[in-house]
Amino acid sequence: MRISNQYAALGTKFSSSSTPEVPKLPQLLLWNEQLADDLKLNLSEEQIANYFSGQKLIPDSTPVAMAYSGHQFGHFNPQLGDGRAHLLGEVANKQGKIQEIQLKGSGQTPFSRNGDGKCGIKPAVREYIMSEAMHAMGVPTTRCLAVITTGEEIHRQTITPGAVVTRLASSHIRVGTFEYFAARSMQTEIKILVDLTIKRHYPNITLTNNRKYLSLLQQVIDKQIELVIEWTRVGFIHGVMNTDNTLLSGETIDYGPCAMMGVYDPETVFSSIDRNGRYAFGNQANIAQWNMARLAECFLNLIDEDEKQAINLVMPLIEAFPDQYNHAFNQMMSNKIGFEEGNVEANKLHQKLLSLMFKHQLDYTQTFVQLQESLIAAESHAEINSLELIEWHKTWQDTLKQSNISHENAYQLMANNNPVVIPRNHHIEKILEQVEGDLSTASVESFLAVLQSPYSVTKDTSLYQDMPPGGDLNYQTYCGT
Ligand code: AMP
Ligand code: MG
Repeated sequence: MRISNQYAALGTKFSSSSTPEVPKLPQLLLWNEQLADDLKLNLSEEQIANYFSGQKLIPDSTPVAMAYSGHQFGHFNPQLGDGRAHLLGEVANKQGKIQEIQLKGSGQTPFSRNGDGKCGIKPAVREYIMSEAMHAMGVPTTRCLAVITTGEEIHRQTITPGAVVTRLASSHIRVGTFEYFAARSMQTEIKILVDLTIKRHYPNITLTNNRKYLSLLQQVIDKQIELVIEWTRVGFIHGVMNTDNTLLSGETIDYGPCAMMGVYDPETVFSSIDRNGRYAFGNQANIAQWNMARLAECFLNLIDEDEKQAINLVMPLIEAFPDQYNHAFNQMMSNKIGFEEGNVEANKLHQKLLSLMFKHQLDYTQTFVQLQESLIAAESHAEINSLELIEWHKTWQDTLKQSNISHENAYQLMANNNPVVIPRNHHIEKILEQVEGDLSTASVESFLAVLQSPYSVTKDTSLYQDMPPGGDLNYQTYCGT
């Protein structure tokens, strides 16, 4: 295993040297064989438990805690940083793509403030299940390689076993990382960070003059739009879209208070601390735009010495966000109802469908799956039973016909875009309770096996498709647990 650390090599302005805490009794709980294979890792169980808990350092790794700031719920916090995570370095996977390896829950760092630097077993396993499910659904995301229990009890709302989760990301550079240097007027460091970001994520940017900042901003915006579109496609609610949880790579990061939408309602929010619905399902695109404006502010001085002129150059990119998003949204929703291209007719249909789903409180995932199945089966489906929906169904069929789209083609397109199974909140909670109780992983493994194939019905899929009795009405998720 060859590990280097380009980020640590940037120097002490970017990160602080910090060694993971040696755990009491590390024990392997979850190991991602497929991902390990992709990274060409060939380790014994003992090595795994040692390396991914902080017990021993991977040879050549230079663990650091990264410095960053962030806007949290709209308020700027100049000093955040990895308070419970250690970046060990990066390795190349089989495709030659760089993957950074980070331990989370591995003890205090210079950025811990009053935190204990720890992670409970439930949030660790939640991150593992959610990120692997998202990856399988085709959503850009960080991955999880391992969860190791530490043999320690940690104090949260209750006492719970401690764990270290190993996270993989193509980089951990956040909007908040740029904000950290911008808040301190450290222009040289912003330039260094821009160059690393371009090299790692946007190598097609070859401009060397100040236009490269605009080009980078545009490409990061494009990636954020793609990301939120993907979340919307599968009904994912991130829950805490602070700028420190927004990666320049466009991968989903930080599965703290995230959840999946059941009944369709754009105002859905589950996070206990999101009282005003800032990060509600239907507000995620607005927030992504807001986050991109914060990133743009970090580049202003580099784009033009004259701030007014810089703002004039940046604003069109930020202002184009909603139109660009809506175009991508129409395209994605059209695919979900079997149309290759988003056109006026298809757009009218999915808009009407969403309003009916809201009115009749239909399950987001099940509705699309049942519509898709209705193309090849004659029997009626539970979610398509109101008169209005039957009428919509007829218009939909007529429009497909007029557009010369065969049922087979529509079905195939829908099947590729509508997951039949998602990591539903009540299943996640049940499994997390069980793992916390007896540290057994059989239920996690069988859930993950189904989530690996989100677009096809396998032997056990039906065990996880059900909605919770009474909906997700009182479901709450918690941050920083
Ligand atoms: P998060 O909610 O995970 O995005 O974390 C926000 C900030 O709080 C980051 O700077 C984290 O490193 C820090 N943080 C969260 N939990 C802890 C903890 N238990 N100990 C120290 N820092 C923490
Ligand atoms: Mg975070």
